[in-house]
Amino acid sequence: MPLCLKIMLDPDISQTLISGLDNHLMDVFPFDKVDVKKSVQLPSSCWNANRRQYDANCLLAFASSHNSTGIVLLIISKDTYVPELNFVFGIALTGVGAVVSVYRLEDDPEFLQKEITHELGHVFGLKHCSLPCVMTFSNSVWEARLKTSIFCEKCWGQLEQEEL
Ligand SMILES: [Zn+2]
Ligand SMILES: [Zn+2]
Repeated sequence: MPLCLKIMLDPDISQTLISGLDNHLMDVFPFDKVDVKKSVQLPSSCWNANRRQYDANCLLAFASSHNSTGIVLLIISKDTYVPELNFVFGIALTGVGAVVSVYRLEDDPEFLQKEITHELGHVFGLKHCSLPCVMTFSNSVWEARLKTSIFCEKCWGQLEQEEL
């Protein structure tokens, strides 16, 4: 069965920021098709007014409820968190999809592409990696900036075997 990636964008994500992203993701991951849905209104129930951030798990549940087949990727402009961390660049659920925030990515399409590659790596079952690899865990913008944007040989091999 062909594997489709559905990308959902909040209204503040610019075209410039995501240009070339669909082709890159089809090169790296076994997607046959990428659909982009623009101007998705984020549910206010996922907004935490005290933290002034979106609850990443809530957004992922929202995104996956709007997607029946394939993988979903929600890209948002606002900052996002999970309860145990100050912020996250994104979160992922294996076999389901991911949420990625551009908030800390300095309006840089390559930086965004790298974070999305990392989260989709998780969607395809990869864990954090200790080699120089896009699957390295980053705790700060500085670390994320510094890490490579490609998979190490081990992760790449694992990704090629992965069947969703
Ligand atoms: Zn990760
Ligand atoms: Zn690796």
